[in-house]
Amino acid sequence: MMQHNNTFTFVVTGGAGFIGSAVVRHLIENTQHRVINIDKLTYAGNLQSLASIEHSERYTFVHADICDAAAMQQVFSQYQPNIVMHLAAESHVDRSINGPGDFIQTNIIGTYTLLEAARAFYQTLDTAAQAVFRFHHISTDEVYGDLEGTNDLFTESTPYAPSSPYSASKASSDHLVRAWQRTYKLPCLVTNCSNNYGPYHYPEKLIPLMILNALAGKPLPVYGNGQQIRDWLYVEDHARALVLVATTGKVGETYNIGGHNEKANLDVVHTLCELLEELAPQKPAGLAYYKDLITFVKDRPGHDLRYAIDASKIEKELGWTPAETFESGLRKTVEWYLARADWWQPLQAANLAAKKG
Ligand code: NAD
Repeated sequence: MMQHNNTFTFVVTGGAGFIGSAVVRHLIENTQHRVINIDKLTYAGNLQSLASIEHSERYTFVHADICDAAAMQQVFSQYQPNIVMHLAAESHVDRSINGPGDFIQTNIIGTYTLLEAARAFYQTLDTAAQAVFRFHHISTDEVYGDLEGTNDLFTESTPYAPSSPYSASKASSDHLVRAWQRTYKLPCLVTNCSNNYGPYHYPEKLIPLMILNALAGKPLPVYGNGQQIRDWLYVEDHARALVLVATTGKVGETYNIGGHNEKANLDVVHTLCELLEELAPQKPAGLAYYKDLITFVKDRPGHDLRYAIDASKIEKELGWTPAETFESGLRKTVEWYLARADWWQPLQAANLAAKKG
């Protein structure tokens, strides 16, 4: 099925991950589009994050690796998508430092494989279908490197200077997408977004880790002096921005997406502790204040000090603005983790078993 009454068939890669699942839920809940979710279900993929929409007749799950060229060709020929939103990636910086191989494989080879499948499919389309087709690559502000010691913001023309194996692999994938646009005229769009937070975030990431450790009375490990600055965006605001770019963005363009919420990591942890004092006053035995659990640990090698996004282009050209402030989004997030132990407890148990095994 191709385009039908202005509804599209979307292929979303990595749709069982944190941001991908927010995109899939948004598409099914708030639009009439059809969604094909391709996911390998690594440790970060979780079909429970899609439980609320999995019965929709507009939703299909394909369990596949984006590095599998035959599987990708099959998806394109079977589902004839109009729009590809590519989110599948290895995404955790600390894991990229401990083992960069998977990052090179999925983020670079996987993106190449998907681009080639998209290009072969695009060439089979008639002119009208080609005019609609989009390949939207979802990337990070980490490709721009570090803003230490400046008041600058990352704009769409900031030169790339990635620091970690993760950001270097994402930078490579961005370059590949631009090359396929320029060389093969595949209609591509790239977005680079700041740090996301919100519901369904894997427990190893800063905000959920701090919430869950605090609830368990465990130390809250803050890297170095905690003065690393990140620009935080609520995941559902990101998902809305992504669908807007995929459907109305200008082909060949890059859009930076950010929440105007520059916060030092230590301040984020303090704000979380204050929210928990209010929302979860029954503390583990012997604990006076959640903030007493804050512990400073050895800094991550190559740790970027400051990221901050200038999101004025997407605001001016596409009319997007974030709906949540950092305060409102963080409150929603804490409330969600307090209510959804059914989602995060099995992940913690699986992590523990993996470490022991
Ligand atoms: P995530 O780690 O939560 O999810 C990644 C998903 O991709 C998982 O469901 C995983 O199973 C799947 N996946 C991994 N390798 C795969 C493969 N080879 N084939 C098919 N599926 C595979 O990541 P996220 O935080 O949701 O990030 C999604 C995208 O957004 C990534 O490309 C990331 O670089 C980018 N991004 C993330 C942030 C952030 O703050 N989390 C910010 C900006 C950009």
